[in-house]
Amino acid sequence: TKDLIINSEKLKIAGQLAAGIAHEVRNPLTAIKGFFQMMEKDLKENQMYFDVITSEINRIETILNELLVLARPQEVKYDLKNIDTIVNHVITLLKTQTNLNSIEIVKNIEPNLPPIKCNENQLKQVFINFLQNAVESMSTGGRISIYIRNQDSDSICIQIIDQGSGIPAHLLNRIGEPFFTTKEHGTGLGIMICKNIIEEHRGKLSIESSPEGTQIEISLPIV
Ligand code: ADP
Ligand code: MG
Repeated sequence: TKDLIINSEKLKIAGQLAAGIAHEVRNPLTAIKGFFQMMEKDLKENQMYFDVITSEINRIETILNELLVLARPQEVKYDLKNIDTIVNHVITLLKTQTNLNSIEIVKNIEPNLPPIKCNENQLKQVFINFLQNAVESMSTGGRISIYIRNQDSDSICIQIIDQGSGIPAHLLNRIGEPFFTTKEHGTGLGIMICKNIIEEHRGKLSIESSPEGTQIEISLPIV
């Protein structure tokens, strides 16, 4: 399967638009949820409908929360951080999830990497998203390999390689499109958000995939 560099200003604008809408929709949604919960007592004989509505409201909330991550570019501060520290922290955060799914994460980190100028929380989110996708693609367990190295003198390259089911070639160019998901409970926002954050950091993202697994490559500039 051929290499794909997900393109586009178009997606960025779609993302900004979506984030704006998310803001507008969240307040009325919060009100609906609150009043609906107050009605629970009276709805006992309609418990099934109550459950469906509740789970749909929760789903909308999840989508809005993911979209809103895009809506706060002005608060973002950039500091000098070690990328390996950030990646290690994320691996720790996902320990339960990887253990439960019989997944082993193997790191290969070049020593003495220079720090990069970044927003730590945003980059954590990027690695969480990609690692979560990797975990979700490996239903029978396996290995996720992470390579971090000083690519050339001016950027750091991070590779996340899984042994999952891969992305079919005909879908590869849709990955990162807002709301494109193949999962029953997916939002289809993870990669779009990651791509946005990576671009804000003046980095690059490329995704390669085959039926043997998927390889994510992120390169981030050293100041
Ligand atoms: P979501 O995870 O909510 O579906 P994402 O934007 O994170 O949204 O991913 C979009 C789609 O890309 C997924 O539904 C899946 O089909 C595909 N995908 C992403 N990462 C991987 C991976 N590591 N292995 C296989 N498929 C993947
Ligand atoms: Mg995802």
